[in-house]
Amino acid sequence: MEKIKNIALVAHDNRKNDLIEWVGWNNEILLKHNLICTGTTGALVETMLQEKYHISHGRSEFQPLTKLKSGPLGGDQQLGALIAEGQIDILIFFWDPMEPQPHDVDVKALLRIAVLYNIPTASNRSSADFVISSSLITTDYQIKLRDYSSYTQRKIEGI
Ligand code: PGA
Repeated sequence: MEKIKNIALVAHDNRKNDLIEWVGWNNEILLKHNLICTGTTGALVETMLQEKYHISHGRSEFQPLTKLKSGPLGGDQQLGALIAEGQIDILIFFWDPMEPQPHDVDVKALLRIAVLYNIPTASNRSSADFVISSSLITTDYQIKLRDYSSYTQRKIEGI
């Protein structure tokens, strides 16, 4: 991954306040990267960043962030597809440990694909603090992927 990272930001409803506050604290760093969000999270992140950008630059226009569909409407799956295509470098996903979600299967799939592709993933605020304050956030970094060729080239019995 390059110096400018593609950072995905997602939060379930009960965790949105937490994520938006974290985005506010880390706005200067986050604004140096490309941000990709699920729909509702993205709208809230955008408002917070606009506010912060306006305070420090006197204007509200900053590089637009990418807003996917809302999570339960396919946004988590869109994000998973972007990870599989190598287009997401970091996943900050504040998921709710106290409430089942209508799209729990999508949440599980997203977390699975992030592990499979060895994407740095933070599910709570202190992990997100460690990720964002890592010196690797501003340097090139080569993600090591396991070799799955023995799996993709496996023989299927009877064919
Ligand atoms: P949302 O989706 O940002 O559209 O609320 C988040 C999620 O539930 O995955």
